[in-house]
Amino acid sequence: MPSRIVFLFSDTGGGHRASARAVASALELEYPGRFQVELLDPFTNGSHPFLKWLVYRYGFLIKYVPPLWGAIFHLTDSRAALKAAIRVLGRQFRPGMKANLAEPPAAVVSFHPLTNHVVIETLHELGLKLPFITVVTDMSDFHRGWLSPQADMVVVPSAESRRYCVSKGLDPRKVFSAGLPVDPGFTGPLPRPERRLLRERLGLADTPTLLLVSGGEGAGRLGRQAIALDAAGLGLQLLVVCGRNQRLRARLARRKWRGAVHVMGFVDNMPELMQASDAIVSKAGPGTIAEALVSGLPLFLTSYVPGQEEGNVHFVLEQKVGWYVPRVRRLVRQVRQAFAEDHEELERMQGRADRVGRPQAAVEIAQLIAAAVEPPAAADF
Ligand code: UDP
Repeated sequence: MPSRIVFLFSDTGGGHRASARAVASALELEYPGRFQVELLDPFTNGSHPFLKWLVYRYGFLIKYVPPLWGAIFHLTDSRAALKAAIRVLGRQFRPGMKANLAEPPAAVVSFHPLTNHVVIETLHELGLKLPFITVVTDMSDFHRGWLSPQADMVVVPSAESRRYCVSKGLDPRKVFSAGLPVDPGFTGPLPRPERRLLRERLGLADTPTLLLVSGGEGAGRLGRQAIALDAAGLGLQLLVVCGRNQRLRARLARRKWRGAVHVMGFVDNMPELMQASDAIVSKAGPGTIAEALVSGLPLFLTSYVPGQEEGNVHFVLEQKVGWYVPRVRRLVRQVRQAFAEDHEELERMQGRADRVGRPQAAVEIAQLIAAAVEPPAAADF
């Protein structure tokens, strides 16, 4: 009988679900049939309808009034404000959480900053003693909501973020740096001959290729960026992934382009598209950044969600694996410089990205979870 593990996430952005699914896949690959993962969104599953309404304003806020979201993020990022927010949120989703945990799982793993504290309290109320693990899905300087001293284990994306957690008072013995989990399908850059074959299979030319994405929703200035890069006549092949933004996809698909531009909707072959590309233009979403690094792609970051994605921009700049180019004109200038004028720097960045990326993160996290659920017997040592 497989041990049931509850993974908590929420679709506020695509990153929490992507990380949870990556670890679930790694658990199944590493330990076939031993664990049964249940993905649970506590904000929609058994919670008060008001909470559902409130949490899904997130998409609206980050799209149309990002500074307001930034203000909410910073205002709640203090001990007192977080306590108050948890009290309000807790009232909304604790009853649903209790129902979901009525049949106790073998462990609970949280991939969302707002679930940690309430769930730990719920476990105490139910008298359940089972491993509670937090997997942080932001790169650095993250929100206080992620940091729960009562968690049995906190898994973070880098050595810097581990130091950050310890500086905020977490017990160093409980904080593990494993990288940001990416789907096992992201297997790293391909040697040139294999990449040529992949491009051929995807119907692409074997020429310098730039991938443009903007999270699952295809929000922001993706259309303007594609139009400006094409108009600049840089001789690049552009792969424009509009995600769920159907209107943008339809508009760009109708357009007469100067060069080779491939317009796509929501794709489910991101690992291949990354392997077929030389660099990526993206907002500072943690999922896309981690996937790009594993794929050895330098990043042209064009925007970030105020608050939670600011640390991701710092991370990319500090590691020298990309540029921050918020204005479309600056983006075009930087892409021109990287591809046409200073190709060596682009290649150095590709090498660095490959080294910074941690393809094994999901597997390492799966191993940590497995060890917490089924601690190795003394005889195993
Ligand atoms: N993604 C995808 N297909 C698409 C667009 C995006 O699979 O057409 C995935 C992408 O690979 C990444 C996630 O959606 O895993 C986006 O996560 P990120 O943290 O970058 O941004 P968010 O959408 O959470 O703001």
